[in-house]
Amino acid sequence: MNNIYNYTLEMLEEYFLSIRDKKFRATQIFDWLYKKRIKKFEEMTNIKKDILNHLKNEFNIKKIDIVDIKEGKDVSKYLFKLFDNRYIEAVLMEHDYGKSLCISTQVGCNMGCKFCESGRLKKVRNLETYEMVEQILLIEEKTKTRISHVVLMGIGEPFDNYDNVMNFIRIINENKGLGIGARHITISTCGLVDKIEKFMNENTQVNLAISLHAPNDEIRNKIMPINRKYRIKDIIDIVKLYIKNTNRRVTFEYIMLDGINDSSTCAYELSDLLKGLNAYVNIIPYNETNNIEYKRSKNDKIMSFYDILKRNKINVTIRREFGSLIDAACGQLRSKHEEE
Ligand code: SAH
Repeated sequence: MNNIYNYTLEMLEEYFLSIRDKKFRATQIFDWLYKKRIKKFEEMTNIKKDILNHLKNEFNIKKIDIVDIKEGKDVSKYLFKLFDNRYIEAVLMEHDYGKSLCISTQVGCNMGCKFCESGRLKKVRNLETYEMVEQILLIEEKTKTRISHVVLMGIGEPFDNYDNVMNFIRIINENKGLGIGARHITISTCGLVDKIEKFMNENTQVNLAISLHAPNDEIRNKIMPINRKYRIKDIIDIVKLYIKNTNRRVTFEYIMLDGINDSSTCAYELSDLLKGLNAYVNIIPYNETNNIEYKRSKNDKIMSFYDILKRNKINVTIRREFGSLIDAACGQLRSKHEEE
């Protein structure tokens, strides 16, 4: 049976028309699910009995389970258990502008980035839309607060689960759903060029971030296997087209790995690569993990890298760090649990 939280408003409208009911029923259902947050179909008191019976027979309304919470300063990590006894995580961060949630999109990941702890578990399966939606619903319920921003930067490659992810975005962006503004949602990809192109044609205001992490193919090949399929030039070409077509700024994420991609030569090369693009670079201090030998760049290296970009008129910020003390930092999600 299909989970009701897999359904966008449009899909539900189609469904109700298909059972010879009114399109408007979908709005009512969304109101119960996303505004009133009911837990059982029976609580939908303005829905006629025969329609309720349809719902009960054709959909389930089950949730995933929160099985563990770890709290740190301005950050908490939620471990979820899925119906097939798999685990995923989401990380809630408190900013001055609101709360942002970093959600997972797959169980495991196949991109194989060498520095990433989360990706050491190969992809088991894609998350269904409801499993992404419910990460938000359950954490809002637990914390009794509203999540204002969502980043798709947890476990998984969102563009390797394209359709489910797009439906997820439609549901959380829909005003009659969670009403999270498109500009408050960010998709992060390791650079699946064909999907970036598809995404460009969706006509949404959702932010795009690309994990670049290297200024040339030689370095990128060593740390990100996906670069053998899509080269840096392919990425830059599609980003140019993306910016031209959408008028939106693109973010490049750049992890600082000691002795790998943090030299001043790299900084100059990156400046040349991005010069004139409506883009900005988000420098991420690497979170070291026990199982991977890469080290975080020294602070003065990070600062001089930053300065070189600045002097070359590249927009650049250094990411504020959350969660390293509770193993909730980028690339560190889940692994302990699955291995036990
Ligand atoms: N697959 C997507 C989204 C998930 S990873 C992507 O590649 O963008 C989210 C971000 O965390 C990526 O930029 C990824 O490269 C980065 N990351 C992975 N491991 C990390 C680590 N140990 N320290 C800091 N950032 C890391």
